[in-house]
Amino acid sequence: MPLSGLEHRGVLFVLSSPSGAGKSTIARQLLQHDPDIAMSVSVTTRPPRPGEVDGKDYHFVDVPTFKDMVAANQLMEWAHVFENRYGTPRAPVEKMLAEGRDVLFDIDWQGAQQLYQQAGGDVVRVFILPPSMAELGRRLRSRNTDDPSVVEGRMARAASEISHWDGYDYVLINADVEDCFAQVKTILDAERLRRSRQTGLIGFVRKLMTSETS
Ligand code: 5GP
Repeated sequence: MPLSGLEHRGVLFVLSSPSGAGKSTIARQLLQHDPDIAMSVSVTTRPPRPGEVDGKDYHFVDVPTFKDMVAANQLMEWAHVFENRYGTPRAPVEKMLAEGRDVLFDIDWQGAQQLYQQAGGDVVRVFILPPSMAELGRRLRSRNTDDPSVVEGRMARAASEISHWDGYDYVLINADVEDCFAQVKTILDAERLRRSRQTGLIGFVRKLMTSETS
């Protein structure tokens, strides 16, 4: 909800970071604290990790199904990440926007770029950096969600993901997750107040100008 309570254009809010920089924690907190933003659940051909729920974390599909979705233009963007395919289903995003909600995307730089090409002014891109590569390594090793070779692969790729930091509107350093979350929330709140997003302003100002002064 915009702070003014007026009608508004939804924000397509993209959070990207190398794996382990704290993006998922921040995304989770944002969804918990803010009922007006909803998550875009991606489709992926990657197998589920222990504890991941189909339809909540991802829609897990096989490669032919993914290709069919691409061919049917059902994805707003898609990319190969870590040898698997990931994409953003179009219909749920359109539905959330029509309901007046903002949409949160946990996608990589390729997805951010494609989304921006399509939806330009509606997109806000935030990149989260780790405070150091040593800290990133520690966070990845303490997770235990993947075997060590996968962790090493991700460390190697983190450097290449970080090289895309300049394709974002905002770049944050996640030294402290609470501080970083507060910064993300500040960005979202400010972006919601942009004049271009407050589509109800014209009517409001018209009424304001014609209303009685006493
Ligand atoms: P993971 O396999 O760890 O869940 O995700 C790996 C990477 O894929 C993360 O950087 C994540 O942001 C990215 N990703 C997840 N969903 C999508 C998507 O729909 N599109 C794109 N382009 N990247 C995605």
